[in-house]
Amino acid sequence: MAAEGGGRIVVVGAGPAGICAAAALVYAGIRPVVIDEAPRGGGQIFRRPPDGFARPAEALYGLDAGAARQTHSAFDALLPRIDYRPNTLVWNIHARSVHVLEQAGGRDAIPYDSLLLATGAMDRVVPFPGWTLPGVYTLGGAQIALKYQGCAIGRRVVFVGSSPLLYLVAYQYARAGAEVAAVLDTAPFTVKLAALPSMLWGGATFAKGLYYLGWLKARRVPIVSGVTPLRAEGRDGVERLVWRAADGGERDTGCDGLAMGWGLKSESQLADLAEVPFAFHAGQRQWIPQADENGRTPVPGVYVCGDGAGIAGAEAAALAGERAALALLKDRGHAPDDARLTAIARKQARLRRFRRGLEIAFPFPEAMARNIPDDTLLCRCEAVTVGELRRWIGELDAGELNRAKAFSRVGMGRCQGRVCGPTAAEIVAGECDASLESVGRLRAQPPVKPIPLQNSPAA
Ligand SMILES: Cc1cc2nc3c(=O)[nH]c(=O)nc-3n(C[C@H](O)[C@H](O)[C@H](O)COP(=O)(O)OP(=O)(O)OC[C@H]3O[C@@H](n4cnc5c(N)ncnc54)[C@H](O)[C@@H]3O)c2cc1C
Repeated sequence: MAAEGGGRIVVVGAGPAGICAAAALVYAGIRPVVIDEAPRGGGQIFRRPPDGFARPAEALYGLDAGAARQTHSAFDALLPRIDYRPNTLVWNIHARSVHVLEQAGGRDAIPYDSLLLATGAMDRVVPFPGWTLPGVYTLGGAQIALKYQGCAIGRRVVFVGSSPLLYLVAYQYARAGAEVAAVLDTAPFTVKLAALPSMLWGGATFAKGLYYLGWLKARRVPIVSGVTPLRAEGRDGVERLVWRAADGGERDTGCDGLAMGWGLKSESQLADLAEVPFAFHAGQRQWIPQADENGRTPVPGVYVCGDGAGIAGAEAAALAGERAALALLKDRGHAPDDARLTAIARKQARLRRFRRGLEIAFPFPEAMARNIPDDTLLCRCEAVTVGELRRWIGELDAGELNRAKAFSRVGMGRCQGRVCGPTAAEIVAGECDASLESVGRLRAQPPVKPIPLQNSPAA
């Protein structure tokens, strides 16, 4: 299926960024291929439940129900005019083709002339003793249980970490009828005050955050700042979280479910496989694909947008998706829509200020990550502890992340370092007394996510 004269356009991701990109392309008379591993469009924030799911949008998305409905119906309206491939994982990009595996087993290599990557983000976790106990989930995982399966991870749940999702998911759990045992923020309250001037740029999004906080406080949910999680304990599953309060005192909170997370990290492996160079983003403590403000990368015909190109939130993702599609159209000879571009750029500038506020208000817990006890499991896939990684760094001078991976096997398993990679980088930097940037980043390897062996391509 060819797109208009310039050849095939492939969009990977049907979240807010990918949907808005596809809509702009369709509006210009193009029929793009849109690939997503999820069964239905919407992405993470507007993840759609399976057919027959009875909970109304208000219960699933809360204050975002209107935006969710709008996104879903916008995407549904596009369906006759795009080549939509749901349930399809892009596991590799090679020689300007995306290699896909359908859930039903079919595989294909789809050549492209233009590629727009809108692959979103995933939870960022920091391991602590006991984090692999049954009943411990990421914040995003706990939310997916609610949105997609209609169940909670426990009856009495502790939420620990630092990110806007911490308060949002706690609120969603409480609304769904679970007992929220505590919301434990690792950031001190003072940083929230320092972030206030920037946070005000968030407008309605900031107001929603305040509402969630106020709602939880009004129901006397314990909310504590400046906390350090010490260990999750339990026999067959998590039974309590032991934590240190800002005053140095040790406390514990009983629970049968624990959700943790420290913001999000970009899902950027496909950009890496498409040979896009990366740049270090100090505020987000991660490497992101290099692109101009339109999402145009140095690789001709390859564009990145949304959270996969740096964490910015759903509203910013939608704008970035549209802007990247407009840049793509311009590069293919379409007349530029300058008025629309100016309007998008103005909104993006406001949201960038807000994002800076969020980065200040919910900082990554650098000290916690660098001081994880030696016997804590770091890489679940390859069963490597923090102590083992430290030993390899010391013995073999492994001050570069890929070197540390080669010796220790951290990041070499099924998840390809998507879960343990960020903390491994912090530990390497900490042990070498070096900056996070100087230890580098894990190179992406295909398959970017596990695929069944029987469907592996011939070598
Ligand atoms: C688990 C989770 C829950 C979240 N919940 C909220 C929330 O409740 N409220 C909120 O404001 N923000 C939430 N966020 C953040 C929010 O989802 C993002 O800011 C926003 O969705 C970004 O939009 P996007 O289009 O860039 O990416 P996404 O919405 O993440 O969409 C990316 C899409 O790309 C697809 N994809 C990725 N890789 C591949 C591949 N290799 N092959 C095929 N398809 C692929 C994914 O299936 C996904 O549908 C959440 C994030 C996560 C990770």
